Order: sequence, then structure tokens, then C-alpha cells
Amino acid sequence: SVPLLSLKKAVKHYPTQAGMVHALDSVDLEVGRGETLGLVGESGCGKSTVARVALRLTPLTAGRIDFDGEDVTKREGKALQSVRSRLQMVFQDPYASLNPRVNVGRALEEPLVVQQRGTAAERREHVAWALARVGLRPEMATRYPHEFSGGQRQRIGIARALMLRPELIVCDEAVSALDVSVRAQVLNLLLGLREEFGVSYLFISHDLSVVRHMSDRIAVMYAGLVVEQGPRDAVWRAPLHPYTRALMSAIPRTQPGTVHRARTVLAGDLPDPLQPPVGCRFHPRCPQAAERCRQEAPALRPVASQWVACHFV
Ligand code: SF4
Ligand code: MG
Repeated sequence: SVPLLSLKKAVKHYPTQAGMVHALDSVDLEVGRGETLGLVGESGCGKSTVARVALRLTPLTAGRIDFDGEDVTKREGKALQSVRSRLQMVFQDPYASLNPRVNVGRALEEPLVVQQRGTAAERREHVAWALARVGLRPEMATRYPHEFSGGQRQRIGIARALMLRPELIVCDEAVSALDVSVRAQVLNLLLGLREEFGVSYLFISHDLSVVRHMSDRIAVMYAGLVVEQGPRDAVWRAPLHPYTRALMSAIPRTQPGTVHRARTVLAGDLPDPLQPPVGCRFHPRCPQAAERCRQEAPALRPVASQWVACHFV
């Protein structure tokens, strides 16, 4: 069947005073209908750029985005609005995305107003409905963002994302700012909404254990590229790319279901996005790097049930 969202050879470069930033270089990703794709990697690897190009908040430099089988790469105006109503986003910091002077009811109504849907009374009713879906009382619509806790604000962010009954919700570090106990509640809320509405998620996090909890498939990004991709349990139990293995080995042993393996400490930082390393971009940090890795970029190819970009897997 046709994937709901697909990125095909997606490239995003943007100019800065220091030079051209290589945020994404030929990324292929697909999210199926009703599926959750988890996207994991260190901060700065291009995960948020994937979110921004998928939502058409920023144009691609090259490549293509399909939504529900249609090329939406260059859509503008009304044609873009109609796609936007089917995609929503939940941000890391809901407080930053909520206007402090606008009460929750009006903040939730806004997407309906923009799309010119319903009467004022219908919109209010829909706000009450969305608040109930995320476990908040309808009276809360008259309150302001500062009156809520971090977890409640994230529920409000999710309620707002639900207002247009989207088919895909992009969550970018949606629980990273929350305490551990609140985090679990919000993750379970998202899983419940998926059961209830069949919504798909592109679930982005630097935290592999959170991604594992949420996803059907996992894609691992490094320096603007996908380096490994596959079914959740395969990537979790038998990671193949040296970078995925290093990420896995950094997960605390208290985590249930963790396969214990010797810890690989990654030397050095993420490469400079202005000048990504030649050959395999991971080679300056890779414990297995060989001469070939310094010269030739490995292509993503099928290995076992995964896709892996490494010469030696
Ligand atoms: Fe490491 Fe070479 Fe594989 Fe890159 S291609 S991950 S440097 S072994
Ligand atoms: Mg980010």
C-alpha cells in the first residue's frame, strides 16, 4: 500500500555566513498509515530538519516529499493548506508554542479558524472534545498557559494537534522536557490516541529507549544521513551499524529488556555540518574505521531485516 508520508532522496542545504550547512543529504524515509516511525540520533544530526521539511515549513534543496501518494514537494497556497490540515506537529516545548496571552480554548480553536471550519459554537464543542481526549476538563479552556504544569501543557499541545483530526502527527522531542513519571503518561496518551484514531506518528527523539517504546520501525540518523533503519525489535536487539551499537551501549543497564553489551564510548563530537567528513561520515568516531571508510561513502543496503550504511556489516 502507498505510504502516508515519504521522503525521497531528500536534501536540505542552507547557507550561513560560515558556509553551506549540510542538514540532510539524500534521506529516504517512509511512514505507513497507522504506523509509527521512530527517528533517533544525537542533537544536530538532522532529525528536526526532517520534521520541518516533512511539514513543509521549509523547502527541500533537492528530492521529493509525497503525502498519501501525491507529490507535495512544491505545493503552495490552498493546495498546501489542504495537506497541512492532515499533518500536525507536537513540539518539545509546548510553552514556547503557546501564546501566553491567549487562553487555551482560543489556542485550540485557531487551526479551525485558519481552515475556516465550523461555527463558533461548533468550534467550542470541538475544543471540549479535544481536551477530553487528552484527559483535561472542558473548563480548562478559559485558563492561560502559565496556569498549567509542563505535563498539562504538553497535553494541550497534543489536544491542539488533534483539532483537525490529522492523519500524521510529527512529534519532535515531545517528551524530552518532561519529568520521567509525566513522560510515561504522555507517551501512553500518544499510544492511546493511535489506537483510537489510527493516527500515524513520525516520532523524533534523541532517546533510543523512548523511541523503542513508541515505534514500529526505527531509523537512526547521523550527520544528515540515515545510517540504519529497520523493524523496532531488530534494531533494538541486533543493531548492525557501529553508530547504532554505540548508541545502544550507552543505554543504562537498568532499562528492562536491554541487551547488555560492552559500552562503546564515542570519541569526539558530531562532525561539522559545514564540512562533513569525506567517505563514511562516521569514520572519525568509528571504532571499526578502515582505509576504505575514509574514501568511499557507504550506501544504505539491506542486511538481515535492516538497511545499513556501512562497508563492513
Ligand atoms: Fe565505521 Fe567504516 Fe562502517 Fe563507516 S563504513 S560505520 S567508518 S566501519
Ligand atoms: Mg532537534
